[in-house]
Amino acid sequence: MNREVVYPGTFDPVTNGHLDIIKRALQMFDQITVAVVDKPGKNLLFTTRERIEMLQATAGKLSNVKIERFEGLLVDYLQKRNIFVILRGLRAVSDFEYEFQIALMNRKLYSNIESVFLMPSQEYTYLSSSLIKEVVRLGGKVEGLVPGVVEEALNKKFALTK
Ligand code: ADP
Repeated sequence: MNREVVYPGTFDPVTNGHLDIIKRALQMFDQITVAVVDKPGKNLLFTTRERIEMLQATAGKLSNVKIERFEGLLVDYLQKRNIFVILRGLRAVSDFEYEFQIALMNRKLYSNIESVFLMPSQEYTYLSSSLIKEVVRLGGKVEGLVPGVVEEALNKKFALTK
């Protein structure tokens, strides 16, 4: 059996926390598709293309990881591709309520779907893309928390917007 999973998110931008989840999932699944939500103009720092490029330069280098863009309902995307498992990361109790709601809604929309939650290494449990953006915007260093290409892209983005 080929075990495939979709890891959906905005990845604005990808952090070492996301990569940690992907690496853990590779021990359990044969193929991971990172599905990047295409939300043009929705308060995101990076364009869909930039978010995908950063993922390709990092997660995309791992074997059995594919990066794709998607829009619309996640369950429709899964159904089209004949995949039944959604991967999400759980950092703290605060993630739980939201994730629980989404998982049950997805199951209601498509009863075959299962959601799988993985916890990152402890050092990434406080890490979020929004916190990273805030720290870089204010001039802080995020070395070790995001891949080098992401750090560069963030510095460039904020230098341009200053
Ligand atoms: P979304 O906008 O869908 O929440 P994100 O890109 O912020 O997308 O996150 C995608 C998934 O990765 C979510 O399940 C989120 O909880 C998880 N995630 C984000 N940051 C981390 C982290 N530091 N450690 C583990 N999981 C994380």
